[in-house]
Amino acid sequence: MKNSIFLLIIALSFRAMAQPNIENASISTIKIKNHIHLLQWEGAGNMMLLSGKDGNILVDDQFAPLSEKINAAVQAVSKGPIRFLFNTHYHGDHSGGNENFAKMGAVIFAHENVRARMALDSTKIRFRQKPKPTPEAAWPVITYKEGMTLHLNGEDVIIFHVDNAHTDGDVLFYLLQSNVLHTGDCFMKGRFPFIDNNSGGSVDGWLNAASRALTLIDEETVIIPGHGDLANKKDYRAARDAVMTLRDAVRKEVKANTSLDGILAKNLAKDYDTTFGSGFIKGDALIRTIYIEQVNKK
Ligand SMILES: [Zn+2]
Repeated sequence: MKNSIFLLIIALSFRAMAQPNIENASISTIKIKNHIHLLQWEGAGNMMLLSGKDGNILVDDQFAPLSEKINAAVQAVSKGPIRFLFNTHYHGDHSGGNENFAKMGAVIFAHENVRARMALDSTKIRFRQKPKPTPEAAWPVITYKEGMTLHLNGEDVIIFHVDNAHTDGDVLFYLLQSNVLHTGDCFMKGRFPFIDNNSGGSVDGWLNAASRALTLIDEETVIIPGHGDLANKKDYRAARDAVMTLRDAVRKEVKANTSLDGILAKNLAKDYDTTFGSGFIKGDALIRTIYIEQVNKK
């Protein structure tokens, strides 16, 4: 008992140490092409800047206290206002700066469920478990259901909604000419996905989203994941295949009426934990999520 308390204390202090400090955050800029940059701070979602003669277009904006730093990073690449701001989904580490950027003049675009979640519009979405009101100034002013295509800065940017994946309002961005894909949180390199089933996410939807994205891209595609380092098709395929294998294995067990404890005892994820367990979702957590979904489908 003493030992386990000791280990818990160690684990908790390590977690506290590893927690990125927003006060000291610095935004790093990684050039993918002259007009495409990854703006990054490890404590929140990856941002993409598309710049050029048509102005600055930003995908995602992290947390509100970082807006000045993010804008400075944008200006260092390309002077001028942020014309359009897109959210990959509604989570605060991807959309927390909306109000600040709207005040600076950016027009905010997102899937209609992003706005519905921010506006707590129960006619469109089921509420989050503990909804927090978001100021109206932060809400996207242009929304869409399925997707849209941008023709700016020499790129055709295909923006497409994937349903019930990480949440119910996810969109992916594919830059056709430069072969760059921003996945939002539908993909994180080397990590099991977080399926936010309180916000309409689902494992099956996540798998469909991955398969759809994988058909669109090739081995040369540069992938900007929702969090973490730049990735490629092989990384995304490996994550998709691992989740699919686990989904199929759990589905089989659910059909055979194995209990959740019985499934967990089989350690189905043990071969994947070293590769995909570096984030906050471990194999067992994903198995629980798959289990709940499969039981509900029965
Ligand atoms: Zn997210």
